[in-house]
Parts: sequence; C-alpha cells; structure tokens
Amino acid sequence: MAEDILRRGGKRLVSCPRCGLTAPWDPANRFRPFCSERCKVIDLGQWASEGYRIPLAQEPEDASGEDDLLGG
Ligand SMILES: [Zn+2]
Repeated sequence: MAEDILRRGGKRLVSCPRCGLTAPWDPANRFRPFCSERCKVIDLGQWASEGYRIPLAQEPEDASGEDDLLGG
C-alpha cells in the first residue's frame, strides 16, 4: 500500500499500523512497516491467535435436548 508511505524531506516514512507512530522506511528498520519490534510481535501475535480461532457461526442442527458439549 503506497498510500501508507509518507514522504518528508526525501526520507520515506511509514505510519506504524500497530500504534500509528511514524517510523522510517529504511532497510535498517527491519521491523517496517512497524516502528519497533514490539509492535511487530504484537501484530503478528494477534494474527496468529486470530488465525487459530474459528468463529462458530453455524449452530448445531441436532438439538434433541442434549446438553451443550461445548463446555470447554
Ligand atoms: Zn508501533
């Protein structure tokens, strides 16, 4: 997304998608587009946890009076 990249004085800057801080888009910044390793880890962590989570949108058809087995 080139829209997220801002230009200021020849240096390219990008706003951290995690916290919104402006971070330099440099090869030295290996956490880009994040501002720091922390933001990157947090974002990736949320991605991972969301990926493992499957929303239970479907309701069980068989509702013959059994107790909910989804206790856990
Ligand atoms: Zn950040």
